[in-house]
Amino acid sequence: MGFEFRCRDIGMECSFEARHADKKGLLQEIEKHAREAHQMERIPDDLRKKIDRAVRKTK
Ligand SMILES: [Zn+2]
Repeated sequence: MGFEFRCRDIGMECSFEARHADKKGLLQEIEKHAREAHQMERIPDDLRKKIDRAVRKTK
């Protein structure tokens, strides 16, 4: 069981997918990806909310 996120679920044309056992770790991976692939030094609050809604629980 864990959490997963797909960049395309927030409307990005990007094939990035991340899985992590806990949500905090997943969000850290997403932040790293946002920095490296989308040149976002920090994730704006509105996007953060979008990401939060796009994160799914896995079985
Ligand atoms: Zn991406």
